Amino acid sequence: MYDLVIAKGKIVTSTSVTEGDIGINNGKIAALGQNLEGRRVIDARGKLVTPGAVDTHVHLEMPIGKYSSTDDFYDGTRAAVCGGTTSIIDFVEPEDGQSLQDALAERRALADARSVIDYGLHMTIGPGQLDKLDQIPGIMDAGCGSFKLYMAYGLHLRDDQLYKALSAVGEAGGLPVVHAENWDIICALIEENIKKGNTSPHWHPRSRPEEFEAEAAGRVIKIAATAGSRVHIFHVSCPQVVEEISRAKVKGLPVTAETCPQYLLLTQDLYDRDGVEGALPVCSPPLRSDASRRELWQALGSGLFDTISTDHCPFCREEKGADLSAFNRIPGGVPSMEIRFSALYSEGVGKELISESQWVDLCCTTPARLFGLKDKGEITIGRDADLVVFDPHKEWVVTAGELQETAGWTPYEGLKLKGRPVYTISRGDILLDEGEFKAEKGRGCFLKTRTKA
Ligand SMILES: [Zn+2]
Repeated sequence: MYDLVIAKGKIVTSTSVTEGDIGINNGKIAALGQNLEGRRVIDARGKLVTPGAVDTHVHLEMPIGKYSSTDDFYDGTRAAVCGGTTSIIDFVEPEDGQSLQDALAERRALADARSVIDYGLHMTIGPGQLDKLDQIPGIMDAGCGSFKLYMAYGLHLRDDQLYKALSAVGEAGGLPVVHAENWDIICALIEENIKKGNTSPHWHPRSRPEEFEAEAAGRVIKIAATAGSRVHIFHVSCPQVVEEISRAKVKGLPVTAETCPQYLLLTQDLYDRDGVEGALPVCSPPLRSDASRRELWQALGSGLFDTISTDHCPFCREEKGADLSAFNRIPGGVPSMEIRFSALYSEGVGKELISESQWVDLCCTTPARLFGLKDKGEITIGRDADLVVFDPHKEWVVTAGELQETAGWTPYEGLKLKGRPVYTISRGDILLDEGEFKAEKGRGCFLKTRTKA
């Protein structure tokens, strides 16, 4: 007799599709078989059963300038659960002069009090952390195995600084994760556009050209190779970056990459809407053309991407629209956390652009493996019982009013999807129960990311 049995579902893993029962005891997957008996049984006939999805790139209650991204660790993880996500990785951004350990403790205190699912944290290495590179081995022992390096924004590192940071992370065996854009060119193009009076969000993607996202990705791949480090490229928005990544992979370089739902589902003409509507989808890298979007799907189907995450970082309508005098004053970021798993199923599997197993691999298994979440991402005996019972026939329309996310708007408004989680289970606890959310605030645990090869 098991605590919980998920019965007669179609079990989809990254490598197989089978039918059967999953028995859960003490929060762990205890048995895979037929006709298992449980104190509670979820009838999964006609449903898919997948590992809980893992979103390795989210920004909850993240301070940017005078604003903070809208979803805190409670609201954000509640939205995650409703979307079938059972683990997230967020970020630590140390202050200059603050030790990495203190910064980690501060961020953990926020998340521990609020997160309803298990979470990990990337450590950010900005210019103010270059004198703390000797703290990297220690912070890896404390559970931060991945390091965020920016090539854009105020936190951006110059090439020599990137080289030093990549060398230190590489030597410690950690995994660098990189925001790759050419900041110098972007700054020049923004300045030029604004001087010409090109201030509307229409000019946002035109100030961040695909060529220079690709140039930056190619450059950091070369710097990482010289420094003897792996590198994971975040939020790839366009096919030119894919070319750089696939070239590196062909050479056998340890390079991996993610893309995000916004680049697969949305296009840059959204920036041409009037007023705040054009400002809402501002994010970086920006949304691209429809042709680029279609090519990204092809790349995804061909296996050129390793993971899909969200870069979830929404701001509310008032903040997005507070200063529309120039596109570079709009806080960047869109919400995607709640729709990711359903949208990738509906638009990907439903349209035969990726297989069911690729869907699970990109959203669950490889994210967990890449970041060393050893108890997550797979349906095998002994792993955490983080599972989703997914109704592939459920038709629904994305609308901000019905989402748990707190931004109050979504760039996917009106998108018709087929497929939605009915149950989301975290360590054996049913947090989404026939579509109803019930989870205790703060039940989520800190996950150590173990990236050492
Ligand atoms: Zn991000």
